[in-house]
Amino acid sequence: MPNKVALVTGGTRGIGHATCIALKAGGYKVAANYATNHEAAKKFQAETGIAVYSWDVSNFESCKNGIAQLEKEMGAVEILVNNAGITRDGMMHKMNPEDWNAVISTNLSSCFNMCHAVIDGMRSRGFGRIINISSINAQAGQMGQTNYSAAKAGILGFTKALARESARKGITVNTVAPGYVHTDMTSHVPEAVMKQIIDQIPVGRMGNPEEVARCVLFLAADEAGFLTGETLSVNGGHHME
Ligand code: NAP
Repeated sequence: MPNKVALVTGGTRGIGHATCIALKAGGYKVAANYATNHEAAKKFQAETGIAVYSWDVSNFESCKNGIAQLEKEMGAVEILVNNAGITRDGMMHKMNPEDWNAVISTNLSSCFNMCHAVIDGMRSRGFGRIINISSINAQAGQMGQTNYSAAKAGILGFTKALARESARKGITVNTVAPGYVHTDMTSHVPEAVMKQIIDQIPVGRMGNPEEVARCVLFLAADEAGFLTGETLSVNGGHHME
């Protein structure tokens, strides 16, 4: 059993929720970060026994302080899963700068903020696993999501650059790019639109959060040390690179 501390941002709902449970079952000491939905976090903590920490991943100082507190209470973070994300959809010609900036800072700058807070420790200990959650919509582009597609595509470059910087220090950095998965995020997509999307997915259905969690668990392992700078797509065959 690894017995290492694993932190999942946005870990109290959806894909993060399933990832926390998979990591805990895999023997990790798991912590879940979240933003403001305290009710969901309380329920998650009661059901799983996993520690929860609230801070805004788009804020550099909050990440630094949040990690410092968590490490004091639980020990050094050795596995970081940058999963927290939001959507603020709209056609580019109608999108306001607030919706652009909110998605870029929550989905992309968060990876910088969080990695910055843990990377020195990982480098000095000579071990780390960083897994960034991107999206099929980074790889294929999506109408109404210039902000989201740009942020998620930014993660692909960020991952590769940091992977190169960190490889000699025993740290791997990889991306998991999910397709359409049943969570609160996709529950707002109108049924007719979702039906059109599902028609394009070779396996003929959306994914489950547990199917993404399985990919994260694979990349988190000690044995995954020769795998870095990669994108693992989990999308039912919806997009093949
Ligand atoms: P979700 O069900 O909407 O859950 C989002 C989680 O992120 C919640 O725990 C939320 O906390 C947290 N969060 C949001 N903004 C945050 C912030 N500023 N600081 C800290 N935590 C924050 O989302 P999901 O569908 O599981 O998606 C998880 C990740 O997978 C996202 O990065 C998403 O873009 C990506 N993804 C999802 C799909 C899909 O089909 N669902 C497909 C591809 C990629 P609160 O509960 O406090 O709001």
